[in-house]
Amino acid sequence: MTEDLKGKTAAITGASRGIGAAAAREFAARGANVILMARDRDSIAGLSGELGKQALAVPCDVSRFWEVESALAAGADEFGSLDILINNAGMIEPVAHLGTVDPDAWAQVIDVNLKGVFHGIRAALPLMLAEGGGTIITISSGAAHNPLEGWSHYCSSKAGAAILTDCLHLEYAAKGIRAMGLSPGTVATQMQKEIKASGVNPVSRLEWSDHIPPDWPAKALAWMCTGESDEFLGTEISLRDEAIRARLGLVA
Ligand code: NAP
Repeated sequence: MTEDLKGKTAAITGASRGIGAAAAREFAARGANVILMARDRDSIAGLSGELGKQALAVPCDVSRFWEVESALAAGADEFGSLDILINNAGMIEPVAHLGTVDPDAWAQVIDVNLKGVFHGIRAALPLMLAEGGGTIITISSGAAHNPLEGWSHYCSSKAGAAILTDCLHLEYAAKGIRAMGLSPGTVATQMQKEIKASGVNPVSRLEWSDHIPPDWPAKALAWMCTGESDEFLGTEISLRDEAIRARLGLVA
């Protein structure tokens, strides 16, 4: 594997498991320093131990701006810069209908999946602009563009996060900020276990073998942080797109 991210520092939210942990391993293998952000201290500490001095674990709840801001500052201080932010942290529960869902639980998903993305962008921009630019990628979803039963909170949050990427590109592309979204398709993670258990919509009825492994989006994310993906700046890349899979050498 080439060390095409050597010298770069990447902050990854939701790095305690799933796509975020796979991305941390992929980025570190490609030479990047990684800032591991999530609430599960033990998991990010364990991953940090596995990756060695290239990794810094910073416990962080993305729904709180000050925690995101201090985590990115600590990482930039440790490694000398912040070049990449992967807005990956997200949640799906509670899967429920609009007329019965708990209002506070509904709003918590917005706090994490939408406000958490804003918090990352807002905290990263001053650090990146001071260094002349950077890459900010937000994990999107088909649910950003299509309603799904029981997922009103998730669809709303992902739609909001997708348009945040558009706004980021509009305001900061000319200032050196590379903004993109990645829609991974369905991925074999804890989130899909929760979806399966809900039994509510067609996604819950997919077979486990229908899901791609987390290292596929991890590879896509690393590629999106290189100049090879510049033609996609300001857009959302889908890993369901066969042309993208072929370009990344991902074969089922
Ligand atoms: P996952 O295994 O459930 O991981 C979710 C991650 O988000 C965990 O590391 C979790 O860490 C973190 N997280 C949740 N709430 C957080 C908070 N308040 N602050 C900080 N971190 C928080 O799910 P995944 O599939 O890897 O999901 C990663 C992203 O991909 C999400 O944005 C999800 O919406 C998106 N996505 C997934 C799929 C799929 O099929 N799996 C499809 C499309 C999009 P802690 O609990 O330790 O905080």
